[in-house]
Amino acid sequence: MQSRKILIITIVVILLSSITVNASTYLGTISHWQSSSDRVSRWDETVQTYDIPLNQSTASTWISYVMPNARSQWNNVSGLSTGTTTSVYNAEVYIYCGTLSEIQNIKPTFLSIYGGLTSPASYVQQGYYNYYINGAYQTRYQYEYVSSDTASVYLKESAGYSTSEKKMIAAHELGHAIGFQGHNPVSSEVMTSTVNSDYTISSDEDDHIEISY
Ligand SMILES: [Zn+2]
Repeated sequence: MQSRKILIITIVVILLSSITVNASTYLGTISHWQSSSDRVSRWDETVQTYDIPLNQSTASTWISYVMPNARSQWNNVSGLSTGTTTSVYNAEVYIYCGTLSEIQNIKPTFLSIYGGLTSPASYVQQGYYNYYINGAYQTRYQYEYVSSDTASVYLKESAGYSTSEKKMIAAHELGHAIGFQGHNPVSSEVMTSTVNSDYTISSDEDDHIEISY
């Protein structure tokens, strides 16, 4: 049996002392909270990805086919717009794709069991949402990414992945870069923690991001 391949998000919390943190602002109620994290983030601008293939021969599939599919899927979420740019200065999210060793050369913490990894940009706290669960309202914080900063996504090329699995990995990691700071326990949905070729961006995941944006 094939070992479980997991997707990881690295949470990097950088508090900017020059920006006032205001935890008292109520932003609304998210009807479907689909994340194990108590935080969700958004960018204050169109999310532009900038592709950095580490090896043209192995990574071309990711750039020419898999990433456009991931952007297209998330663009179905109302209010969210993702695109791609050929100018590094216009990018919010860097997309690195290559073999395990190529990724580890630039991201040593990328483990062999990972299918993908996202290192978020720094962010500032905007306020909180409520979400009704287990008989009570929970408080979930929202952060806005700092527009001058960038997030990095690492996508691993491997002969062990089907095209469907690559599409899931790319959509999953882009989901982290867009705003999911945790994982979804529903195994058929894209923000679940294990690679799955039979996935969807669910209406609940859609709601989770749509309300944030
Ligand atoms: Zn993940």
